[in-house]
Amino acid sequence: MKKLIHFPGSEYQWVTLLDIQTTTRTELIDITDRVRAVVRDSGIKDGLCAIMTRHTTCSIIINENERSLRTDILRMLEKLIPQDQNYAHDQIDNNAHSHLRAILLGMSEIIPVEDGHLVLGTWQSIFFVELDGPRNRSVNIKILES
Ligand code: ZN
Repeated sequence: MKKLIHFPGSEYQWVTLLDIQTTTRTELIDITDRVRAVVRDSGIKDGLCAIMTRHTTCSIIINENERSLRTDILRMLEKLIPQDQNYAHDQIDNNAHSHLRAILLGMSEIIPVEDGHLVLGTWQSIFFVELDGPRNRSVNIKILES
């Protein structure tokens, strides 16, 4: 779904929904190339790119896409927020640890767009983090022209 919205007298906005099919319980999926493609499609040269997931058991983060680090991130989450700790929410659907990990990592990122490109450091990648998969997920991307 792509939309270019223009309100007279205001800036352009470009809205896209990315579909993501996760394949395991917890995983980091690099969506940098997909977000870059959205920025390119929008034609917007300068502004802000907001990336948000509306789910409550997954996250959006920015960090280095290096295999060992991806493992370390998942290990850190297991250590900080272990499963099966008599969480109250586990009485409902047994995934309190997934919600808590998602809160820790956050649901959104905002990245500047300059000269038609995302302003990311050399080692920065955008990840969708699945914390309660596998599931069909979606990520909202909105680009605002400045
Ligand atoms: Zn739940």
